[in-house]
Amino acid sequence: MVDINERYFRKVLRGIVEFNMFTDDDRVLIGLSGGKDSLFLLQVMKRLEKELPFFIKLAALTVDLGFQGGSYEEETLLHLKNYCQHLDIPHYFIRTHIAEHAFKGDGRNPCATCSYFRRAVMSKFAQEEGFNKIALGHHVDDAVETFLLNLFYNGKLKTMAPVRFMDRSSITIVRPLIYLRESEIEETLSSMGLKPLRSPCPIAGTTKRSVIKEFLRGDEDLVSNIVGAMRTPEEPLELWPKEPRRHQIWQLFEEFWSK
Ligand code: SF4
Repeated sequence: MVDINERYFRKVLRGIVEFNMFTDDDRVLIGLSGGKDSLFLLQVMKRLEKELPFFIKLAALTVDLGFQGGSYEEETLLHLKNYCQHLDIPHYFIRTHIAEHAFKGDGRNPCATCSYFRRAVMSKFAQEEGFNKIALGHHVDDAVETFLLNLFYNGKLKTMAPVRFMDRSSITIVRPLIYLRESEIEETLSSMGLKPLRSPCPIAGTTKRSVIKEFLRGDEDLVSNIVGAMRTPEEPLELWPKEPRRHQIWQLFEEFWSK
């Protein structure tokens, strides 16, 4: 049933040990969209449940974003339920109207709104049902893409953290696949004969993230070098100092000219 390449599973173990993702009695809610990463994550979590030296409780949650003509039909839902049942993981399902909110107005950044509300729905459910962690299926390619998206479009050095505690909900987000490449997940799923669901989102494949994905495609060194740049460096960062405020610039001028 759970048949993950040992080399890939060791990468998962490295991530969970290095970033201290789980501890005894964790109640972990797994995000299950039905896409390849979440299907694979369920397999990984089931194996971890069996092999970790302490007890963790698992459940999966599917959030229907409510895309027109792309909501989870009964048949799809049944497919996800059966998948969870097969792995002996309880499955929950919530219908929402997130898509409507994400694409309303100028719709300039639907992904930010969509991700924000999806995370909020998951956190609320986790809180209400007594889960302390949410596991998401992001992998290293996702982290690198996020790093470049922030750099190119937000002017920030920032990426996806393997573990993130959210103050407002007291829920911790964990990403057990963070050391796996997307291609490794795809390869494993096809060897298991598992078919991921197609995204119902009308802009899937045309986002800024897709542009970055295309930019990175096929250059292995590029990805591993960027991963190196995402780490906190041992040596001081060679960056410009923080930008001074307007009044500080005037102060600097005055000081410079009065020398
Ligand atoms: S691509 Fe579509 S589903 Fe994904 S975050 Fe953006 S709006 Fe949401």
